[in-house]
Amino acid sequence: MANYYNKDLYKILNVNFDASVDEIKVQYRKLVHLYHPDVSKNESDIAKFKEIQEAYEILTNVDKRKKYDVIHGYYKEKIKKQFEASYRNEKLKEKLNKQKNPGESSFTKSINDAIDNLFTLKKKKDDNFDNKKPINGDDISIDLSVSLIESITGTNRKINIVHTRPCPNCGGRKFINGQNCLMCKGEGEITYNKKINVKIPQGVVTGSKVRIKKEGNLGQNGGHDGDLYLIITVENNNYYSIDKLDIHCNLPITPFEAVFGTQVNIALPDGAQAIVKIPEMTSSGQKLKLVSQGLFSKDKTKRGDVIINVMIKLPKKLSDKEKELYKQLSEISSENIRADFDNAK
Ligand SMILES: [Zn+2]
Repeated sequence: MANYYNKDLYKILNVNFDASVDEIKVQYRKLVHLYHPDVSKNESDIAKFKEIQEAYEILTNVDKRKKYDVIHGYYKEKIKKQFEASYRNEKLKEKLNKQKNPGESSFTKSINDAIDNLFTLKKKKDDNFDNKKPINGDDISIDLSVSLIESITGTNRKINIVHTRPCPNCGGRKFINGQNCLMCKGEGEITYNKKINVKIPQGVVTGSKVRIKKEGNLGQNGGHDGDLYLIITVENNNYYSIDKLDIHCNLPITPFEAVFGTQVNIALPDGAQAIVKIPEMTSSGQKLKLVSQGLFSKDKTKRGDVIINVMIKLPKKLSDKEKELYKQLSEISSENIRADFDNAK
């Protein structure tokens, strides 16, 4: 489910946001034939094929589709549409009833008010449906991946969270006049999404829980709101790793940089960067230490080191000219760098 939050899955499958599963299936079969790797070896077609499969998988799974719809605002649109349809139905019934029994009216609540209530995040007085005792909102948690560099420097993220709250139409009672509430479909609660900015502190590791106060589900009747917990996964990185408060960095340099020296930027906690001078004649495996530039302890009284492990790396390809120059180098090279190694046998 890597990036699907950022894509318009309905557009990918070329269907309306309220398309039925059958409609989606028909459209999927059409598209899959067009872009199937057996038909086209074109790279962009293969990417498109994967995208179509991903969209299909999400939109034909009830739970995944609902979550996607909530985050993208389609859920709100769908409810609105269903409401308008049922409203027209009720109006029609009302009209017919009035003709039969003048003076009787059934569906009086304004649909627009109900929809406004549904998606208003502000707590209103009419949340106190039954004057019941305070109920605290639940804590919620979501998974969040950060890069290893972000875990070192700390980062800010904009995230979508899905909340639930009692249905404002039926007050969580699920039924109105013995019938399933139209707004929540008898579930008693509704979900809605909210975008918030969160700060991920430096030093998180896989499994860290970052607490965002009062961003969980809303409390009712004066109860306090729950908290949001971000459950962190730190993505692997070939070049940086963390050992307690120390940051280890495998630094690739070219053979020429090894000979002549160079300067490199190294990511440090709190978004800072260190400019590190690699001295001339540095060999692979040589380590440089930046003392007290690593991660901070929780109470900020200690700080680890940054340990740079130099790795000389050759380019993937050499031109003929480069090869020729290396050849000349090898012919004039005089020192046996394996003398110690050979003696050690
Ligand atoms: Zn309801």
